[in-house]
Amino acid sequence: MSSGPSMTLHVLGSGAAFSRRYGTTCSVLSLPSGERWLIDCGRQAPEQLLHAGMRWHDVAGQLITHVHGDHVFGLEEFAFVRYYTSVPGLPAVMKGGPRPRLAAHSAVLAELWEVLGPSLRYRSTAKGEPVTGTLADYFDVLSPSSVEPPAQASWNHAEAFHVAGLSLVVRETRHVYGKPSTSLEFALPGESSRLAWWSGDAVVDADLLERLESRTTIFFHDCTFVDFPGQVHGLFSDFEKLPPHLRKKIVLMHHDDGIEQHRERAQALGFRLAMPGDVYDLCSGQRLREG
Ligand SMILES: [Zn+2]
Ligand SMILES: [Zn+2]
Repeated sequence: MSSGPSMTLHVLGSGAAFSRRYGTTCSVLSLPSGERWLIDCGRQAPEQLLHAGMRWHDVAGQLITHVHGDHVFGLEEFAFVRYYTSVPGLPAVMKGGPRPRLAAHSAVLAELWEVLGPSLRYRSTAKGEPVTGTLADYFDVLSPSSVEPPAQASWNHAEAFHVAGLSLVVRETRHVYGKPSTSLEFALPGESSRLAWWSGDAVVDADLLERLESRTTIFFHDCTFVDFPGQVHGLFSDFEKLPPHLRKKIVLMHHDDGIEQHRERAQALGFRLAMPGDVYDLCSGQRLREG
C-alpha cells in the first residue's frame, strides 16, 4: 500500500550490555537513497555484520548514541578496515577512498576519542610513513547544523545533523548520571515533521515521549525488568504506566537474555519486543520481517 521512499531499520543486536543470546547494540538504518548507516556499533558488531551479509565497505555512515562498550567497541575495527583495505570499486581511505560519515553529539565525540585514540592515533600513510591520526582521518565527522542551549546537563541539549538523505536530532537523555548520552530523532522522508525515535540507553522520560508521540511513528526504547538504586535504563514498571497510545508504538530493545519470560506481559500491554534480524519500516511503524 505504501508508496514513495521509505526508511527501514534492521536490528542486528537487540540485547543489553551483558547479553549473550541477543547480541550488543547495532542496527542498520537504510535510507531512501540506498545508503546504509549503523546505529551504534557494539562489541559484537563485526560478527553481526558478517551474519547479516554485510561488509564494513557497505556502511556509508555511523551514528553513536553514547560511549559504552556495548555501543562502541566495534568501531575500532570499522575505522581500521576502511582505512587500510580496499574492495572492488571502493578504495581504502588511505588511498583516497571516501571516509565513512560519523555523526554524534559533540560531548559524545569527545569521549569517543578517549576510547579510540590509543589505537587510531597511530597510523601510516599510503607510503608507509608514520603520522599522527585523528578521528577525521578515518571518518567524515559531521558538524551539527544547529545546537540547542544546555538543559540539565552541562553540555549542549541537542544537536541537529543534515546530510544527503538523513536529517536527525541528537538529544540529551538521562542514562548514567552526568554522562553524555543521547537519543536519536529521525526525520522521515515525505512528510517532513514525522519522526522515528531511538532512545539509546535512557531511563523512561514520559513527558518527552508524550510530547513527541503525535508525530512519531515508532519508538525504540531500551528496557530492563530489574530495578536498582540509580537506575540507568528504561524500567518496565515505568513503561507500564504509559498510556496505551504510546505503548503500542514502543518496541522494547536492549533487553536482557531472560526477556522471553516477560513477553506475554509486555505484549498484552501493547509493547513489541525487538529481536535480532527484525526489520521495521520506520514510515509505517510496522515490522516488515521477523528475525
Ligand atoms: Zn547499552
Ligand atoms: Zn549505556
